[in-house]
Amino acid sequence: MYSKSEMLFGKAKQVIPGGVNSPVRAFKSVGGTPVFMERAKGSYMYDADGNRYIDYINSWGPMILGHAYEPVVKAIQEYATYSTSFGAPTALETKIAELIVGMVPNIDMIRMVNSGTEACMTAIRLARGYTGRNKFIKFEGCYHGHADAFLVSAGSGVATLGIQSIPGVTAAVADDTLTAPYNNLPAVEELVAENINQIAAIIVEPVAGNMGCILPQPGFLEGLRQICDANNILLIFDEVMTGFRLARGGAQELLGIRADLVTFGKIIGAGMPVGAVAGPKEIMENLAPAGKVYQAGTLSGNPIAMIAGYTLLQTLNDHPVIYQELQEKATYLVNGLKEAFGAAGVVHSINQMGSMLSAHFTEYPIVDFSSASAANNELFKRFFHAMLDRGIYLPPSAFESWFMSNTLTLGDLDETIAAAKSAMQAIK
Ligand SMILES: *Cc1c(COP(=O)(O)O)cnc(C)c1O
Repeated sequence: MYSKSEMLFGKAKQVIPGGVNSPVRAFKSVGGTPVFMERAKGSYMYDADGNRYIDYINSWGPMILGHAYEPVVKAIQEYATYSTSFGAPTALETKIAELIVGMVPNIDMIRMVNSGTEACMTAIRLARGYTGRNKFIKFEGCYHGHADAFLVSAGSGVATLGIQSIPGVTAAVADDTLTAPYNNLPAVEELVAENINQIAAIIVEPVAGNMGCILPQPGFLEGLRQICDANNILLIFDEVMTGFRLARGGAQELLGIRADLVTFGKIIGAGMPVGAVAGPKEIMENLAPAGKVYQAGTLSGNPIAMIAGYTLLQTLNDHPVIYQELQEKATYLVNGLKEAFGAAGVVHSINQMGSMLSAHFTEYPIVDFSSASAANNELFKRFFHAMLDRGIYLPPSAFESWFMSNTLTLGDLDETIAAAKSAMQAIK
């Protein structure tokens, strides 16, 4: 069933560390051989052995309207003939900036980069430059890319691989990163009190997606906003996952809370390598060349990436019903999964907001990294493989969110629920 993938993985491991270009892809925490993909269309991915999967990672978010979304493919084809890069400004960059400034609340300006990592790294540098302070607070299990300062108590692959301290990250860098448990305001208040006038920013995933999907408890984000206002700290929402996914304006719009800086990635590039940092003019104009906080990129604002992102974002902007449809599909799936797990007598806790969700095998609510870690992640591994064998592609880790695309049909959802039922009966 996976013989070609096994052969390809064997070859890959000879020339690529661990056989993959990003750790979570390697299936290390769930075991087995990663499936090598060949092509995808809509809600389906096809691997090298010809197996078909209903996709619940959607490239970790970008494929919100399904794979190979035709308007995006056409736009890329057309723009590729004009040149794949100029290294000089284009009108297209202003066009996408105007579109995003119109979609997202509380921002006047946006700077394009090439990944979510770069976006978060830039946001912290900008916050430090703007406030003249060095430290920042992040939350255990939140992931803000792989820049040195963020790898302290990080989620995603760092959590999946169980890495405690990272060789290559110096103590001096790590010392400026303060961490608190997600959803824990008293811990944040304590850090702020211990570090008066030293904290530049609090960076948070407004809905966490890198330790499974974890929702902010009522008052948590409001509390962060208040703490930041009272102490002249910048509040950074890392909306690399939630941006353009939970709503046109991301979590800021859906939850009605203002951030001082916002970072984007994933959907913003429609599957091309794009990230961005955005905020009010007063802060953003500190970035070079308007200001002195240096930031640059040879391929930033790349025309192919920009037209891909622009085409996808414009569709999302013009059709807000997409978010309603995604919400309905997610509710349907969650209800079906609960029934499937319940029928097998498996305790479970499913978190969901909009088209992000995750299933944890525990009777306790999952509210932070400790509770996510305490769930039965052995059962998740077996569930993952049983689902894969039934043609359902879930994230290969309990510490990742599932992402839905709007090309999922009711038939796809029913097939997924039926697979979950049969998988649970087979493994419990
Ligand atoms: C994926 C992700 C990042 C990192 O983005 P890359 O494009 O992988 O560098 C940062 N923050 C969050 C919340 C993410 O989900």
